[in-house]
Amino acid sequence: MGAANLAGHVENWPGFIGSGTELTSKIKEQMLTHDVKTENGEAVGLSLKNEIYTAHINDKEITSKAVIVALGMQHRKLGVAGEKELIGKGVSYCATCDGMFFRNKTVIVIGGSDSAAKAALFLSEIAKKVYVSYRKSEMRCEPISLKKIHGRENIEINYFTNPVEILGDTKVTGIILNKGDGDIKEEYKIDVDGIFIEIGASPVMEVLNGTGVELDERGFVKIDREGRTNIEGIFAAGDNTDSSFKQMIVAASEGSIAAKSAYNFIKFGKK
Ligand code: NDP
Repeated sequence: MGAANLAGHVENWPGFIGSGTELTSKIKEQMLTHDVKTENGEAVGLSLKNEIYTAHINDKEITSKAVIVALGMQHRKLGVAGEKELIGKGVSYCATCDGMFFRNKTVIVIGGSDSAAKAALFLSEIAKKVYVSYRKSEMRCEPISLKKIHGRENIEINYFTNPVEILGDTKVTGIILNKGDGDIKEEYKIDVDGIFIEIGASPVMEVLNGTGVELDERGFVKIDREGRTNIEGIFAAGDNTDSSFKQMIVAASEGSIAAKSAYNFIKFGKK
C-alpha cells in the first residue's frame, strides 16, 4: 500500500475521513483478522511450471496457483541538472513525507495535476511560501483543490513555466525556470529551500519479464473487466493496470475484482 500511505488527507473514500496512513493501517488491521500469510520483501521475478507460479521474493520462493500483480507506480523524474544530486537535500517526491522539514521555509511544487495540487495545499500549511510551477495555462487538478489553492494567500502559481536547473551544492538554494508560451522563453530564478516534484508516476514491470503478460504502449498491464491478464492465472489490480483512473478507491475495487477472479480460477479452473 505504498502510494496510499503518502496521501495526506483522503477525500474520496466512502465513509472514511482521515489520512492515507490511517486508512492503510485500518485496511491491514482488517486483513489480519482473516487467515492471511504475509511476506515482506522485493519481488524480483515470477515463473510458471506445471500450472504453479513461483514468485521470487528476495531469496525466497513462494508458490501459488494464481497471482495478482499490484505493483503500483514509481515517481517520474524531471531529468534536469541538479535533480539527482540534490535528492534528499531539498529535492523530494513526497510532500507528506518530507514537508515537515520545510516549516516556515519557501518551497516549490512542480506539476499541474492532482498530486501537485494536494502537495501544494499540504505544504501551504507548513511552509511560509509555496510556489507552483506548471507548464500550461490552468492546473488540471480536481476543481475543489484548485478552489482551495486560490484561497491560500501563500500559494503562487507560475503558469507556462518549466524547470531548467535545480541550484545548490550541499542543499537546494533555488531553481531556474523558463517561462513562455510558444517560442519566446525567458529564464528566471526563484530562491527556494525545497523542491517537490509531483509530475506523475509510471509502472515498473521488470518482475513480469518472461511471463508473456501483455502491457499497453505506456507499460501498464492490460486487463479485462474481471481483472484477468492475457496469461491464465495472472490477474492485476491498481495503479499498474491500464484502467483510466488512478485513485485508491479504484485500486481497491480492482483488487476485490481480481481477488474474486483469482478465487474462481483456483476453485473452478480455467477461464
Ligand atoms: P498526472 O500524470 O495526472 O499529472 C502529472 C502532472 O505533471 C501534469 O500536470 C503534467 O503536465 C506534469 N508533468 C508531467 N511531466 C512533466 C515534466 N517532465 N515537466 C513538467 N511537468 C510535467 O500525475 P498525478 O500524480 O498528479 O496523478 C496521477 C493519477 O492519480 C491521476 O489520475 C490523478 O487524478 C490521481 N490522483 C488523485 C488524487 C486525488 O486526491 N483525487 C491525488 C493524487 C493523484 P500536463 O498537465 O501538461 O500533462
